Amino acid sequence: MSLPSSGVLIPASKLPDVKTTIFTRMSELARQTGALNLSQGFPDFDGPRYLLERVQFHLTHGQNQYAPMAGVMPLREAIAEKVADLYGCHTDPLETVTVTAGATEALFCAIAAVVRPDDEVILFDPAYDSYDPVVRLQGGRTVRIPLTPPHYTVDWNRVADALSPRTRLIIVNTPHNPTGSVWSAADFAALRDLVRDREIYLLGDEVYEHIVFDGHAHHSLCADPELFGRSFVVSSFGKTYHVTGWKIGYCVAPAALTTEFRRVHQFVNFAANTPVQLGLADFLRAHPEHHRALGAFYQRKRDTLCAALAGSRLGVEPSAGTYFQLIDYAAVGDLHDVEFAEWLTRSAGLATIPVSVFHAVDPGRRVLRLCFAKDDTTLARAAEILCAL
Ligand code: PMP
Ligand code: GLN
Repeated sequence: MSLPSSGVLIPASKLPDVKTTIFTRMSELARQTGALNLSQGFPDFDGPRYLLERVQFHLTHGQNQYAPMAGVMPLREAIAEKVADLYGCHTDPLETVTVTAGATEALFCAIAAVVRPDDEVILFDPAYDSYDPVVRLQGGRTVRIPLTPPHYTVDWNRVADALSPRTRLIIVNTPHNPTGSVWSAADFAALRDLVRDREIYLLGDEVYEHIVFDGHAHHSLCADPELFGRSFVVSSFGKTYHVTGWKIGYCVAPAALTTEFRRVHQFVNFAANTPVQLGLADFLRAHPEHHRALGAFYQRKRDTLCAALAGSRLGVEPSAGTYFQLIDYAAVGDLHDVEFAEWLTRSAGLATIPVSVFHAVDPGRRVLRLCFAKDDTTLARAAEILCAL
């Protein structure tokens, strides 16, 4: 703390190294420069009409007061039915399902529920940006294990070596942002062997659970009875229903873990917004085919983008899921990826995400992330810019 002459107290920051997120910075730069924005992950098309109508219906029919702290019952029931149907995970929505203000809130609550000062949390690099700061706010520390490109696989020997008596949590993000890799059954078997007989919790960030390509299946922590016993499984309606601005997600966890999760959730957000929850409940029941078709929907977009980049000088890395595609620009330029992304936005009119920011130790690769949750015309314009490099 310091006491300047202005009389405004200046706190010693709890997160002094944390900048405004790369998503905010790149989207803002795209806005300022008028560049095409394939940086922050959001669709440039709307959610399904029936979903918008149902939310509007509840909004205009008096459903505008607090929802129950854990979420409205019809939505929790619909979520429980979905995880039973897809993953064979039969849980009581009263005790195991909590609706949150986006996956971001759920990630915060799960980490805060189990991580204590000096605990260690294992993350795989590149790692989504919200995990590490939240761990540190609890007094914990992250142990970062790099994934192995080009398929961004886990080296399980390194994970085994990284475990210590202080390891309390492992964060499993599959399908993986930013690389688009997905974990296999063998990964889950390796994880099972490592955590057995230890007090290590698992946090499954499965927000892209329905966006998996090429006939592969999403492996959920919900589908593994042994692992589920120690898991918080988080997803986001924003990704599945093309409504990232609604900020609504959920956590499924066994009752004992959910009790701790809700102890935090009730003081972070108390309850997520009512008409959106009710509208989503109506939509999930009426249109289960929506999430079943999502993989094929985005696979077509990935293939459209990759086909258009075939004549470019860029390396197209494998993307097995999510709505992200990594491209290697080493043949085009030598700049560091943060500088290259800025140059590309300002000079070529295309905003992307530099991947090095998701690493604790910069691997020095020349790789950018593109979001292909865009209309075909947007993808064609982006490809034109990239092919001209
Ligand atoms: N986890 C991952 C891997 C994400 O990509 C995102 C958002 N894009 C989130 C969590 C946060 O989801 P939400 O917007 O629902 O908070
Ligand atoms: N998860 C989104 C992405 O990866 C961004 C979310 C955010 O801006 N915090 O692009």
